[in-house]
Amino acid sequence: MYSVKVEANFSAAHNLRNYKGKCESLHGHNWKVEVALSSDKLDKAGMVMDFKKLKAQLKCVLDKLDHGYLNKGAYFKKINPTSENIARYIYERLKARIKGLASVTVWESDTCAASYYGE
Ligand SMILES: [Zn+2]
Repeated sequence: MYSVKVEANFSAAHNLRNYKGKCESLHGHNWKVEVALSSDKLDKAGMVMDFKKLKAQLKCVLDKLDHGYLNKGAYFKKINPTSENIARYIYERLKARIKGLASVTVWESDTCAASYYGE
């Protein structure tokens, strides 16, 4: 199997419901997003997917979150905007756009990350 990964960033505000601690208050993060694809074969050019095209698809999804207040978006009205749920949100939107999507990992800080691998 082959695997490729790209990274991108977005900045946004959120606050967590049903949570006691610092993250219950409105605050922001600079999230790092890592997307992994896997495939058992390569295209004619010898690639799983062109990095440039993969990055462009990811950018389309992240542009909807960037510099927003996540709790105000329709998706996060009832679902808590945790790193876990943000990873799932990005995964579900990318799934329809690219083949071989394996996982989405969302880094909330340099040392904390959550991943979603699909069903
Ligand atoms: Zn937070």
